[in-house]
Amino acid sequence: MALAHLTQADLDSWVTQARRFTLQGRLPDYIPQLAQVDPRLLAVHTIADESLVSGDFAQPFVLMSVIKPFLLLFLLEQVGSDRVFQQVGTEPSDQPFHSIPQLKNDDGFPRNPMINSGAIALTGLMPKTSGSERCEAFRRWLNECAQTQFILDEKALASVRSLPNQTNRAIADLLVQRELLDRVDLAIDTYNQLCCLSGTIADLAQLGSLLAKPHKRISPIHQQMVSALMLTCGLYEVSGKFAVRVGLPMKSGVSGALLAIVPKQGAIACYSPAIDKVGNSVAGLFLVEKLAQELELSVFR
Ligand code: GLN
Repeated sequence: MALAHLTQADLDSWVTQARRFTLQGRLPDYIPQLAQVDPRLLAVHTIADESLVSGDFAQPFVLMSVIKPFLLLFLLEQVGSDRVFQQVGTEPSDQPFHSIPQLKNDDGFPRNPMINSGAIALTGLMPKTSGSERCEAFRRWLNECAQTQFILDEKALASVRSLPNQTNRAIADLLVQRELLDRVDLAIDTYNQLCCLSGTIADLAQLGSLLAKPHKRISPIHQQMVSALMLTCGLYEVSGKFAVRVGLPMKSGVSGALLAIVPKQGAIACYSPAIDKVGNSVAGLFLVEKLAQELELSVFR
């Protein structure tokens, strides 16, 4: 079996089954715009030899933490892996994605690039311009490489800024003390802008293809590193559980975006805004698990 064997009828039927899970999660309350979306939205887009799509595919959404693996990929390409892994670790974490105790326990060195501390630390490797210039350079690179049309959602950014995230600031402070960053404001502004890149479910699936298949501008070693970290860390403290149940590199975001890479085949993108306590989309996880089990997609098969 393979992702290419998926039929439209099966996808539609699994999306119908997934709808009941949209009522089980909750919306994040610390970003006003995300707290106001319709929790019943649900979309899935798969790319293998062909693309299939089902659900509310026209609805754009912000990526939030789903951008993290691509920030990592970008910096691996720009500055190389030796420099990147002086800035951030490669170990999974059993703590929430914004855990300060964990960062303190680790002497201010971020466990991995899939949690907030890791991504905020990585912004320190970007050119010392402004958050807007950094985000724009990254956005262009991403859109060129992945053939996508991500834009910065200015309304979402204003919403994020309207309730300053004290946890992320405290994380950045610790990173400054550890000399991984020199400016808290610049790091937070860059991070917030990256999280507010917005596209459709088709864009998200297309982004996944960047890691799944050989690409003329991206080193296969870097694709491999990012995918391995998505498998071990992409769903935070439940990454191990889903490595067993699904067996695919994945990344979630608090907007309800969820991306699964099917190495050498393609990608599965889901969007459903209701998230569980960990911060992962409830219906999205149901769908990815369903597809992985029915189509035998685990990389360990
Ligand atoms: N911008 C969000 C935050 O820092 C992203 C977190 C996430 O998607 N898990 O809280």
